[in-house]
Amino acid sequence: MAATEAPTSSPPSQAPPWHAREPEATLAALDADGNGLSTETAQKRRARYGPNRLTPAQRRGPIRRFLAQFHNVLIYLLLGAAAVTGALAHWVDTGVILGVVVINAIIGFIQEGKAERALDAIRDLLSPRASVLRSGRPTTLPAEELVPGDIVLLQAGDKVPADLRLLEARNLHVEEASLTGESLPVAKDTPPVAAESALGDRKPMAFSGTLVTSGQGRGVAVATGDTTQIGRISAMLGEVTTLETPLLQQMDRFGRWLSAAIVALAAGLFAFGTLGRSYPPAEMFLASVGLAVAAIPEGLPAIITITLAVGVQVMARRQAIIRLLPAVETLGSVSVICSDKTGTLTRNEMTVASVITAEETFGVSGSGYDPHGGFSVDGAPVAPGARPTLAEVARAGLLCNDASVEPEADGWHLEGDPTEGALVTLARKADLEPELEAERLPRTDTIPFESEHRFMATLHHDHTGHGLVLVKGAPERILAMCSHQRRGGEDEPLDPAFWHRQADGIADQGQRVLALASKPVGSQTRELQFGEVEGGLTLLGLAGMLDPPREDAIRAVAECRSAGIRVKMITGDHAATARAVGRKLGIGDGGSVLTGPDLDAMGPAELAAAARDTDVFARVGPGHKLQLVEALQDQDRVVAVTGDGVNDAPALKRANVGIAMGRKGTEVAKEAAEMVLGDDNFASIAAAVREGRTTYDNIKKSILFILPTNGGEALTIMAAIGLGRELPITPVQILWVNMITAVTLALALAFEPTEAGVMRRLPRDAREPVLSRFLTFRIAFVSLILVTGTFGLFLWERMHGAPLGLAQTVAVNTLVAFEVFYLLNTRRIHERLRTPADFLGNRYAIYAIAAVIALQMLFTYAPVLQHLFGTTALDPLAWGRIVGVAFTVFILIEAEKAVLPLGLRHLPKRG
Ligand code: ATP
Repeated sequence: MAATEAPTSSPPSQAPPWHAREPEATLAALDADGNGLSTETAQKRRARYGPNRLTPAQRRGPIRRFLAQFHNVLIYLLLGAAAVTGALAHWVDTGVILGVVVINAIIGFIQEGKAERALDAIRDLLSPRASVLRSGRPTTLPAEELVPGDIVLLQAGDKVPADLRLLEARNLHVEEASLTGESLPVAKDTPPVAAESALGDRKPMAFSGTLVTSGQGRGVAVATGDTTQIGRISAMLGEVTTLETPLLQQMDRFGRWLSAAIVALAAGLFAFGTLGRSYPPAEMFLASVGLAVAAIPEGLPAIITITLAVGVQVMARRQAIIRLLPAVETLGSVSVICSDKTGTLTRNEMTVASVITAEETFGVSGSGYDPHGGFSVDGAPVAPGARPTLAEVARAGLLCNDASVEPEADGWHLEGDPTEGALVTLARKADLEPELEAERLPRTDTIPFESEHRFMATLHHDHTGHGLVLVKGAPERILAMCSHQRRGGEDEPLDPAFWHRQADGIADQGQRVLALASKPVGSQTRELQFGEVEGGLTLLGLAGMLDPPREDAIRAVAECRSAGIRVKMITGDHAATARAVGRKLGIGDGGSVLTGPDLDAMGPAELAAAARDTDVFARVGPGHKLQLVEALQDQDRVVAVTGDGVNDAPALKRANVGIAMGRKGTEVAKEAAEMVLGDDNFASIAAAVREGRTTYDNIKKSILFILPTNGGEALTIMAAIGLGRELPITPVQILWVNMITAVTLALALAFEPTEAGVMRRLPRDAREPVLSRFLTFRIAFVSLILVTGTFGLFLWERMHGAPLGLAQTVAVNTLVAFEVFYLLNTRRIHERLRTPADFLGNRYAIYAIAAVIALQMLFTYAPVLQHLFGTTALDPLAWGRIVGVAFTVFILIEAEKAVLPLGLRHLPKRG
């Protein structure tokens, strides 16, 4: 049978479904075998079946997206106004209103497209990988490359990459909630089940998109891409969600409330103008619409969205990939970061630096995975061949090991776990040849390493059938399994006190300690059970490994500290190791370390105090991580937590910002996290926090910039009507200012670079509203400056005999010039502008200002625009007055920054 029936979740109707077939029959039907496809066959199938991914849900087409830009209360209002002006035969106004509406829609359309593209790019960064047998060799591939017939290897933490018929299952449990809604993991097995079994009962199947919570397995891909079960219900998983964030929702509510208030105000103004001041109703109607248009910050939502999208992009460049957009805001208010140690704070490049046997302590020279190096006792070199126990330690470390270290052009290359890689290199230094040793003692079975049980065991048989169990792991765990120790080729009773002393001694130097042990078993033992290794082992020795801290992590920890962020290290490693590494990194006071058992013995109050005051936690499990996060959150801390394993998922979900490791993290952890670190590096978390603060600052700056323009315009119109004067700015001119110049200028603030002091501030109080008291004050203050200057200069021009059109042109240009200067003020919310960089540091601001100047020239001098907006040319003196008046906003705001007491600025207190 050929593979024609392969690409569906169930074979053709006459054949039984995959779950009802024997494994062999499945393989035969797929033209596959247990060694996996050859690369060639895989390529052919790939061409035939296409990539293994779900066709993305149908996006809104460009036309619908464009039309959606008109779905907005304000636009309805404007369209209403256009209709009324049309009815009154004010054709120019009608044309201008419609023109501005369309331009606004085009800008919104382009910006939204940009934001969506930014998120799409991030989605690609998160695409999962799969472990596959190709031509008999395990390879890691992008899951997209899978084809029917591929043999896929599963282990705890994986996301199943395609629909698989299982060939092997070892304690395999899979969580299928995405498919069946059942959140408890189900046990998987290989024997066929009844053809009519429901999805949740198909034990020999592992379905694409479900998560492996424990155990291991191997299966053959029977369906890929859209033909999988999940493809059929076409629910996209692990997606970056929409652009909704709490801040946007807050702004949305504010916007709606503001619009309603403004419409009411405009109606009031209409009544007042027609009845109280006897303006003609048509003119008054236009003035009221002008007020509404003036006061509503049309561009703000788009600008916030763009600012967030820019933040997400910058973070991705810094290896911090945001999965859920609200995290961008939350990152800015993080006050505690709980980080793993190995690989995040340290380099995860292990080198064995010492070996301890019952007889001697050896120093090991050399660095990295390069096997050049040797052994010494008290500084004197020794030949490994002359020390049988040392050789045994090295052999146990080599065989109870899944890593490989091979020479490549640019040095020695590690495939697998660094802890194990270090042991391979140790063995080479002891003159052992990995392949030869593996041939002499082939492996029959394995208990893989898991953080929960902290050891790994392997079973070997030599060619005469003698069995040997080798175990390596955390010293206290291994010592508890041992009854004897090896000395001079003989076993003698174990001296636990000696070993604990030795282990503590090397851990104190910051080394990770592993104990190695062995036990002979009969030839009939072919499977390794936990019971087999739990007792009666002989301890061979200890190995101490160095894992240097990352230089950039040391700097990042210091940066976090100055930013008022407490860094806590939560590690599975030994307490003494953790303390020494913490000291090198500047985490903790170099003394107090609490362990998992310590935490278990505590009551809630004690635990709360421990979570608050202690910075180094050792030998803790994922459950403790969750407890610590909860205890910190109960004390109003905003907590970021890193994690990589399946069991870290609850802590990641619970944290305010869950951070999964991109490299060593499991798919389960990534799915539970808000952010994924592309390089597993702590420094990237600090960079993300800094970017989160910057983004939030920039959003605040946009708000601070846009609202006073609206306030100033609204006040100008109200003042004019109140005083019974002509309008200094006509409604269509207001549209121009709000929708063309203000948006152009404000957009530059989305790209505002990080302020120098951003990581010297305390974290923002997460409960603080965006529009703080200080921001409201600043907005009111600037609005007043704007109305005084604009209206004042308008009146001055009129008093000096300027015709209405000219005075209005002066007023509009004054308002825009105010915006240009005020944009510079807004580049720093609190600090005064001092250096050239303070003025010129954002090239987008320069472009925006240049663009706005050009636009104003057109607005003032181009005949078409003169006709549309009722403007007239200005002489140089008028320009001089405009710039002079507008410059006052710059002076006044800088003065305000200098004199206003800090208290009003609402800085959060140091907690
Ligand atoms: P974290 O990443 O949380 O900072 P960690 O990586 O140091 O912690 P684990 O990986 O859980 O913690 O390791 C805990 C202990 O298990 C180690 O201190 C070590 O003694 C032992 N261990 C680590 N890796 C292996 C391995 N591959 N085989 C056997 N034992 C191991």
